[in-house]
Order: sequence, then structure tokens, then C-alpha cells
Amino acid sequence: MSATKYVYLFGNGKAEGNAEMKDLLGGKGANLAEMDLIGIPVPPGFTITTEACIAYTKYGTAKIKELLEDDVKAAMKHIEDIMQMQFGSNENPLLVSVRSGARASMPGMMDTILNLGLNDNSVQGLIKKTQNERFAWDSYRRFVQMYGDVVMGLKPENKEDLDPFEVIMDSLKKERGITSDLELTASDLKELVYLFKRAIKERTGKDFPDDPWEQLWGAIFAVFDSWNNPRAIFYRKLHNIPDDWGTAVNVQAMVFGNMGNNSATGVAFTRDAATGEHLFNGEYLINAQGEDVVAGIRTPLQITKIGSQRWAALAGISEEERVAKYPSLEEAMPEVYKQLFEIQKKLEEHAKDMQDLEFTIQEGRLWLLQTRTGKRTGFAMVKIAMDMVREGLIDEKTALLRMEPNKLDELLHPVFSQEGLAKAKEIAKGLPASPGAATGQIVFFAEDAEAWAAQGKKVILCRLETSPEDLRGMAVAQGILTARGGMTSHAAVVARGMGKCCVTGAGSIVIDYKNRTMTTRGKTYHEGDWISLNGSTGQVFEGKIETVAPELSGDFAELMQLADKYTRMYVRTNADTPQDATVARKFGARGIGLCRTEHMFFTGVRINAMREMILADNEEGRRKALDKLLPMQRSDFEGIFTAMDGFPVTIRLLDPPLHEFLPQEENQQKEIANALGITLEKVKERVNALHELNPMLGHRGCRVGNTYPEITEMQTRAIIEAALNVKAKGIKVIPEIMVPLVGIETEFKMQEDIIRNTAEKIFEEKGDRVEFLVGTMIEVPRATLVADKIAERAEFFSFGTNDLTQMTFGYSRDDVGVFLPIYLEKNILKNDPFQILDQEGVGQLVQIGTERGRKTRPNLKVGICGEHGGEPSSVEFCHRVGMDYVSCSPYRVPIARVAAAMAAIRK
Ligand code: ADP
Ligand code: MG
Ligand code: MG
Repeated sequence: MSATKYVYLFGNGKAEGNAEMKDLLGGKGANLAEMDLIGIPVPPGFTITTEACIAYTKYGTAKIKELLEDDVKAAMKHIEDIMQMQFGSNENPLLVSVRSGARASMPGMMDTILNLGLNDNSVQGLIKKTQNERFAWDSYRRFVQMYGDVVMGLKPENKEDLDPFEVIMDSLKKERGITSDLELTASDLKELVYLFKRAIKERTGKDFPDDPWEQLWGAIFAVFDSWNNPRAIFYRKLHNIPDDWGTAVNVQAMVFGNMGNNSATGVAFTRDAATGEHLFNGEYLINAQGEDVVAGIRTPLQITKIGSQRWAALAGISEEERVAKYPSLEEAMPEVYKQLFEIQKKLEEHAKDMQDLEFTIQEGRLWLLQTRTGKRTGFAMVKIAMDMVREGLIDEKTALLRMEPNKLDELLHPVFSQEGLAKAKEIAKGLPASPGAATGQIVFFAEDAEAWAAQGKKVILCRLETSPEDLRGMAVAQGILTARGGMTSHAAVVARGMGKCCVTGAGSIVIDYKNRTMTTRGKTYHEGDWISLNGSTGQVFEGKIETVAPELSGDFAELMQLADKYTRMYVRTNADTPQDATVARKFGARGIGLCRTEHMFFTGVRINAMREMILADNEEGRRKALDKLLPMQRSDFEGIFTAMDGFPVTIRLLDPPLHEFLPQEENQQKEIANALGITLEKVKERVNALHELNPMLGHRGCRVGNTYPEITEMQTRAIIEAALNVKAKGIKVIPEIMVPLVGIETEFKMQEDIIRNTAEKIFEEKGDRVEFLVGTMIEVPRATLVADKIAERAEFFSFGTNDLTQMTFGYSRDDVGVFLPIYLEKNILKNDPFQILDQEGVGQLVQIGTERGRKTRPNLKVGICGEHGGEPSSVEFCHRVGMDYVSCSPYRVPIARVAAAMAAIRK
């Protein structure tokens, strides 16, 4: 006996564990114990703890066997006593399953072995006991197959090969001239046991163990080992489950769903996991063992009558045929069904959440084998939580805490219909850069996108990569597909901002701009061909797929009200156009946290005025061009102020390097030369002169505003005049002018002086005033360290965590795609720091900046406007450092609202 308790019994109504002990017993073990305690029939058994698994990986088999042996022997005796059977007996043999089960559910990732305890002696006992020779040999055959695979390692040699056991079985079926497993006779199955064992011996060199105890230990260790199989490791990475948790092992008496037509096995959900509808549902198979349902070998039937009728309607099956061939469990075994219905109700009421259950019916007797919190879609997540609040099952805070905020995304974008997806053909796969479903005709150029869209066509803009000049094309496209680029590439960021479906970095795609074709997986597509994108999975499909519009009323709206009730931070949006601003307000944004003025310069005739300004030799030339831009900017701001009626709008002054605005291709350069009446050479000369080796660390942000103050002057004028004009119409305006890329307090002061002086001049000219703030974006690491000085003059801080991340790590955001995937795979980085704020490093700077800023100016308004402002774990961080608000792209506003409320409740 060891000092630590490694083994917990269950199955006599007095389980030693309970639902609270998931860390120690794993989810499966803890819930089996809980079901036992509340009087639900579970086959008796015991759980070996996750601590034993950790000890096993440290000390190895011999030591762990010594530690566990006495307890496991006693626990097997506990099962034998309850079942009145004996392990390994040739009269009345006890069979057990050996099941994995970690803290977090990892469905199908680890291994389970059924029917353990069978050998050439005990199979005779099973035949005697059940009078069912075929069943006994089938059970034995399944056991040898599972054990041979999981414990003895007889697996396909290459990943293209079929399962070796299936190969043997198929050749026997061929020999017998049959197709279905169900047609195999008892003697066929007996032969398979022999053939399987022989194959194991030949291929692994090991004898199949006949001693049930040897079988048991082998299975226990194999389940421990399965914690580290490649599938499990991958799944953990995907879901951020720590590698050091380990799995528990559950050893449990077998019950049999394959003992004839009054036996069955199935899986059920207490509510609909796709829609959230409060409707018990699930699937079952008569005369089958558990893994048959999950593995999809036979088509299962519906558990409830209503489910069965709905299924038949979709499949076009008449009611008569349904009843005759595909009866529900409710109809086929009404008594057992009634019992199952009561149990599922009890389980859900007990757990207070939707449950996913596994059950088996052995000769008319119902056994529960598993219950767990059911996985669900975003739609189901919201509906179930709100229904449960109304039913009085959970309170409002619990409903909010049940949210996985990212999943709300699914509710906001149009979606493909399930029927459509089932028929669609995938032709490429990229990164799920911006969610949604898009169907349209291929175009390769932004101007074509515009022209086609103007004719009422639906287009998908397909590019190698996108540049700011593609913006207009992106705006009118249904979706954007790029062969290069990552999740934070320009296309992705802009698409998310527009709530537009986008797939980036679809590497198999080769684009030929000249011939206007795109080739992927050996097939060529032409301009005008139809394709569809799924921005949530990164899939590209051939042809059209039907979409359905999302519903945003009801439960979703109520959830948002709850979020507002419990949140401390509020949520703003990043929006550059009145359209974006309007969408964001619909989603509950309370202001604009980042309005990027440069995007306004890319469209139409403006780009020419902008280019003229940049190409000018002197201040006079620049002012002439700026005069052309002024009225356009002013009217943009009027639109945005009007859309945000009364909510604050943070406007960032010109930020990107100037050469981004210049034409790189010769024909465009000719065009601008003609328009400006200068030579092509002159244009080329300027473009070359403006070229920078590291433009993101170059002449940009307030560095431009301080070298060319007239730009800041013009922008201030546009903002303040727009505010006065809108105010005159009775609309409340609160402009907040934001200076980008400040690293030295003098940089800020110089800009601030220009802004305030210009504003005063306008107030005098117009004889009217508006209130406005001047603040800065904190995005250069140095700024966080001297934040106390910057705050002497700055009235607000907005953390620009995209640039701050870039400069803190020293990673170029546009080139990170080369090494980031490898860094993630090798665990050098846990997450992409451009998506999930690096709290340890970048977060420290955010905290320092906030603290130092508030030391100087206690009421300093602090927010965040990087991509992280819409990412739940980063939002929680912002709450903890005491920010006033987060700002994110319009389509992430609801996500941020819920994440902010969750952070407030957790704290
Ligand atoms: P997973 O975690 O992959 O779902 P399980 O341990 O739940 O694996 O086992 C898979 C299936 O095997 C179960 O759904 C159940 O139907 C069947 N099974 C497991 N243990 C038993 C048992 N003691 N009696 C009958 N069937 C069992
Ligand atoms: Mg299971
Ligand atoms: Mg920046």
C-alpha cells in the first residue's frame, strides 16, 4: 500500500470520488463517480488517478506497478463482488473496459480497450453464461483487435495503408462472399481471433497475452502512454491544454449492447448542440458495441421520435418506411427510452449545463457510461445559456461566464448552409483570416472588382497579396483570397475591420495575373469562375454555396444587455468610414477608438492629391495639394461624427510611411506624371528618394507631422471644421485628436502646439468653439517608459499594441510569417503575439505606461486600439491593468463586450 491514494472505487452507490475531483480523476472518472452517487446506473469500476499517470511517466512501469498492485487487486475484487463474476473465470468471466479520461475532455484522442479478460478459457465461460456463441467470439475478436492495436502496436505501416486487422477481415469476408460484419458466423469470428493473434505475433514478434492480469496491466500502461500519442499532443496544443496534466484510467465492468435485438448502444445530448434548441436528441444502434456509433461504421438511428421524423423528412423517407426500417428508440424500446429520458433530465439539472452522454442497453437494462458538458456551436452556446437563465437553472453571471467570446463571431457573419457544404468540393486551404462565408466570381484586380460589382456581380478578389491600393476592390468584394500573407497581414486586418470574409496564405494557389488564371491542385480557374470561401476554416471551394443570413435578435441581444450590466470597461471600435461606424454602433460600440485617416486617402481622386502632396518639392507645393485634400477629409469626418452622434471619436493623424502612397508600377507613374504635368523621370526620382530600407521604423507617424507641420495643420483643420459644422446641426461631437508613434515627449508637445494653435485660429474665424482632446498612441517602447512626462500634456493614451508588439519583440509584422509557424511548432512561442497580447513582455510595458501616465494625470483616459482589443484574453488583461475601454474592429465589438464583462465578474 502506498501513502498516496491512487485508486478510487465507484459502482455501489457510494463512489469515493465526485464531480468536483476532475483534476485528480479526469472528467470521465469524476462524472462516473458523481452519477453513481446520485443513483444513476453505472457499471461498477475504479479510477486510477492522473497523479499515478504522472508518477508513471517519472518512474516507469516496474515502480508504478509496485505502487498500485495491491489497490488494483482490491478494486478488481470490488467489481467482482458487485457483478458476482470472476476475472478470467471459465464459468462466469468478468470482462472490463480500460478507458482513458483527462481533466479536459479530449474526445477520441486517447485510447480505450473493451472486453478485456477474454482468453481461450474465459471465452468458453462467456458462451456458457450467455448461450450466445456468436456474441462471445465477436467480443473476443474485438478485444484482440483493440488490444493488438493499442497495446501491442500493430498499426498500419504507412499512413496510406489500411488497418491491418481490417485487411484480414476483408479478405475473410471476400472468401465467404459476404459484405457486412453482421454476416460473419461464430466460426468465422473464431477464425479471425486466431488470424489476428498470428498477425500480431508475426509482425510484432510478441505473443498475445493470455493471462487476464497481464492484459490488464498492459492496457493500463498503454492508456497512460496514450496521453503522449501524436493526436493527443496536437489536440492539447490546439486547445491550450497543458502537457503535464496526465490522464486518469478507468477500469469498469463491461456491459454489452451487442447481445441481440433487445440490446443497443448510443450517444445523446440533453439539448441540440448545433442550434441550442431545448430538445433531447441523439443516436443509437441496436445490437452494437459503443465504438460502432462513434466510428460511423453503421448508420445510426435517432433516439427520439421527433428527431427521427425530422431526419426522415430531410432524407425523403416516408413515415411508413421510417417506422418499419428506422424506428426511434422511443418507438423500439419505449420503457428503456422513458428511463433514459428521466436520467438525461436529472443529469442536466444536476450539472446545470447541457450534457453529452453515452449509454448501453444490455438485454433491456439501461447503463450510463459517460456524461460530460457537451461541446456546442456559438449559436447553441448563447441560446442554451439564456434559456437556462430563464429556466432559473443558472444566474446571469454564470451565463456570461459560460461564454467562449470568440464563438460569438459565428453569429455575426453570413454562413453557408449545411446542405451546401456537404456537397462542396475543396480546392485549396489557407488561413482563416476573417470569418464568414463568401461566394463570388474570381477577379484578380481591384479595379475589375469595382467594375464588376458596379454591374451587380458578386466577386472574390484573388491576389498574391494585397496592398493598400486594393482597398476599394476589397470593399466591394464578397471575400478576399490571397496566396501569401498571414493572419495579421494587411488583407487580414482590413478584412476583419470590414467584417469581410478573408482567406490568406493559401499556398497551393498559383496566380497568373497575365493570363488571369489561378491554378490549384492541378486545376486551373479563370476570371469569372465561381468559388466560395469559408473564412472560419480557411477553406476554398469550387462553385457556389448557398448562404444564410445571421439572426441577431432575441437571445443575442439579451446577452449583450447582460454584458453591459456587469462590465466596467466599455468598448469602442476601430472604424474609418461612416459605414463601419454605423455597423459598430449596431453592435454596441460606444465611440471610435481609432479612426485611421490614411485609409481615406487611398480612394478615387484623393490618391492623386495625396501623391501630388508627396511629390511636391517644397512647402508651397505641399500646401497646394493639401488644400485639395482638406474638403474631402472634412466631409469624411462630418460623416463619421454624424454616425457616432454623441459618442467620442479618436482620430489618428497620418501614420504610414509616405512612399506607401506612391505608384510603384510604371503605367501608374506615367499617369500621375501626366496629371501633375511633370516628367516620368521626376516621378521616378521622387519614388526612389522616398524609398526606405525599414519603412516601418522610418519616416512615419509624428515624424512626418513634425517634419511637415502643414500636414498636421490641414488634418486638424479638417477635424475641427467638421466638428463645428456638425455641431451647428445640433449633433454632439467629441473629437479626440491622436498623435501616432510618439517616443519622446517633445515630439508630442510640438504636435500638440500645432493642433491647439490651429484649432484656436479656426475658433476665432468661425466665432464658435468645440471641446476636443489631444492625446497620443503609445506604441513605441520608449513612450511607455517616459509615460509620466508624456502625460504632462497628453489627455489620453491609447495603446497601439500592434506596433508595440512589433517593436518590443523586434519582429517585422509583415515578415513574421517566415518563422512564426516554426516558432509555434517548436514551442518557442506559445501564441502569435500579434493575435494574443504577450502579457509577460509587451503587457509589462502596457502596465508601466498606464501606471506612469496616471501618476502624472490621475484621470488620464486609457484604452487600447491594437488588434488585441478584440481578443478575449487580452481584453481581460486590459481590465486588470485598469483601462477605461478597449477598441476593436466592428465585428469584434460584441466579443469584446462579453469578454470585458467576464473579466469584471471574474475579478
Ligand atoms: P472516448 O473517451 O474516446 O469516448 P470511451 O472510454 O468513452 O472513449 O469509450 C468509447 C466507447 O466504448 C464508449 O462510448 C462506450 O460505448 C464503450 N465502452 C466503454 N466502456 C464500456 C463498458 N464498460 N461497457 C460497455 N461499453 C463501454
Ligand atoms: Mg466516450
Ligand atoms: Mg502604429
